[in-house]
Amino acid sequence: MYNAQTYLLGANRSCIRELSEFGRSRAQVVGRENVFDYSLGNPSIPTPPQVTEAIYRLLAEMDPQQLHGYTTSVGDFETRKAIADDLNSRYGSAVSPEELFIGCGAAPELCAVFKALAVPGAEFLAIAPYFPEYKPFVESAGGVFKVVPPDVPDFQIPMDALEARITPNTAAVIVNSPNNPSGVVYTEETLRALAALLTEKAKQYGHAIYIVADEPYRELTYDGVVTPFLPLIYPDTVVCYSYSKSLSLPGERIGYVYVPKDACDGRELYLAIAGAARASGHVCAPSIWQKVIAKCAHLRPDLAVYDKNRRALYQGLLECGYEAAKPDGAFYLFVKAPGGDARVFSDRAKEKDLLVVPGDGFGCPGYFRVCYCVSYDQIRRSLPIFKLMMEEFSR
Ligand code: PLP
Repeated sequence: MYNAQTYLLGANRSCIRELSEFGRSRAQVVGRENVFDYSLGNPSIPTPPQVTEAIYRLLAEMDPQQLHGYTTSVGDFETRKAIADDLNSRYGSAVSPEELFIGCGAAPELCAVFKALAVPGAEFLAIAPYFPEYKPFVESAGGVFKVVPPDVPDFQIPMDALEARITPNTAAVIVNSPNNPSGVVYTEETLRALAALLTEKAKQYGHAIYIVADEPYRELTYDGVVTPFLPLIYPDTVVCYSYSKSLSLPGERIGYVYVPKDACDGRELYLAIAGAARASGHVCAPSIWQKVIAKCAHLRPDLAVYDKNRRALYQGLLECGYEAAKPDGAFYLFVKAPGGDARVFSDRAKEKDLLVVPGDGFGCPGYFRVCYCVSYDQIRRSLPIFKLMMEEFSR
């Protein structure tokens, strides 16, 4: 006997993984340089040298027992203090170490937050296009997953559609900005309108409606665009942050949850999140990475490589006649599929070893996602294939 639901999650490989595996096997046949794989959001800029130096220093200088030992489950105080100081210096906020929980990246942090908020019948709203893992995360926490349709073509938040889906059972709205897959950054105006709507609805229903801010891409913005710090706009916000993308550390599993003490039931919610993590087997985040972050929380990525790719690809695709959402953040372009069916487009592109992800799994059919954390050369050499595809679909 086994759990049929978790079996299905394990057995059904995601379309993204399948595409990237296809890319790897094709590379062995036609050569790596002839496969134009835009499927995976794996950071392609190196980890900042200060991070590497911090690891060497820790290994050389720290007592190994202390370095590799268990930490407290909420994380080292020094790490939480360094993160709080960094947030406060950037945003003029008043974050304290006691409001931070050091987790193993955004994915398990989101799971703990959903579990902590999942009272019976609790509904969680995701705004399309959305990160597909939200659905299994919410459902395995015991919540009900609901989707707000996309605000095409700008991919901000469609307030009327969102309002129509808020019920007395709404526990939280998941906000992911900069967004995977659209690359769009929600404007301050959008977020203020969202805050006003949720404040009104919370009052109407007599309980808090939280924002769960999923922010692995917070620092990945371009052309001077900034990601507003949501807790300053809407106090009932729980932030799930990750260093996977900002410091190019996706395999190391380190991030944090911020639960403002002034949020509704802030302290209780913090403890409920710690308890949910505990119930899922969380012991502590990797000790060595906590100590690295204590020294490196102030570092920002050098985005020059992503920015060069972004400009070249966006401009190149527009010149071929494609339409895409304005890519202000993350490392994704979300492109309208010529012919209207992104699965058909993706399948035909695959025949030319051009790998793009149909938007269906992100709750947004008709668009495809392109991850531009790849080499510049790949972009340059793939543009003629995108052009060919456009010509084929325009016939
Ligand atoms: N949320 C979004 C929107 C993501 O794109 C990802 C990873 O790609 C995650 C969460 C999970 O990130 P982490 O590596 O921090 O678990």
